[in-house]
Amino acid sequence: MLTFAEIVSNLGFVLAIDHCARGCAHCPAFGDRAPVQRAPYPDLAARVAGVAATRRRLGLRPGVGAAGRVVHCWRISDPLDYVTRLPGGDVATCADVAALWRAQLGQGLYVVTNGSEASPMARRALTAFGDAPDLVSQVKLTITHADRSWDSPRYIPDLAWDVAALSRLWGLPSTRAEDPGGRRFRINVKTTPDRLVDIRALVVAVLVRAGLSRATAETACDDHSMVRFKPIYDLGNATGAPSPVAGAVDLSTVGGGRYKPTPETRRGLQYGIRPDGRLFVVDMYAFTEHDLGTAEHPLFWPADVEDADLHADLGVYADA
Ligand code: SF4
Repeated sequence: MLTFAEIVSNLGFVLAIDHCARGCAHCPAFGDRAPVQRAPYPDLAARVAGVAATRRRLGLRPGVGAAGRVVHCWRISDPLDYVTRLPGGDVATCADVAALWRAQLGQGLYVVTNGSEASPMARRALTAFGDAPDLVSQVKLTITHADRSWDSPRYIPDLAWDVAALSRLWGLPSTRAEDPGGRRFRINVKTTPDRLVDIRALVVAVLVRAGLSRATAETACDDHSMVRFKPIYDLGNATGAPSPVAGAVDLSTVGGGRYKPTPETRRGLQYGIRPDGRLFVVDMYAFTEHDLGTAEHPLFWPADVEDADLHADLGVYADA
């Protein structure tokens, strides 16, 4: 039996943005032709306020137990691509999403991005994070040869701009519950073993261009809390085929699926709300997700959740 109490108690996602058009080869979104969806900011604000009110009704205090776990505003998307026009004509960015998280959920926004790609609105968000670090629990900037921009002459200067905007966060602690010992900002380098030397040289070039001395850049590359080199896992892609990245780590189990249990950092089943309000569930260990309800009758987050019976059987099953 599934209830709203269960969903809110294990809510891992309130998506401001869904899908991605950046086309990184290592990403499960590779080959996804679905258009990027963004929640209208007023809808997102109402939804997050509703989640916060429901948490209070259930006695889930911010920062305590499951309520302290991160709530993501994205899953397989780049949160810096969140840009929507407000009714008054101004534009909301990822920084405005972060302001909602801070005010309503009592946590900074967790941001994992492949960079601003020199987008003015994405840069505006990064500047806001640098100026007001409490907006974010942690920012991770991914550098990888699987990025579609890898061979572009803009790749290094664009990333360097982002690093310079965020560099102040290196000196601050992460406030993300899942990484209490980390820094507020970290670079994740995703690489296959054969590209390690190349990509390390590129990261040093990015850091130097961002303003670090060469010696400091080299030291940063040896400091796992500042720059972490990680393998590329074969998480498949949107067509169901294996990752096209040669040398990606195979996670196939005997049954042919993909399974990476990490109970120390995340819960196995997490619920989410899509930009249009549809509810979904994610198996965080198997990297799969599906909508709740049926195609004809999808289950939506209620606009009037304050009137909802949180313990009523919703008549759907998470593993349907
Ligand atoms: S890795 Fe991130 S930026 Fe790249 S395609 Fe996937 S979701 Fe988009």
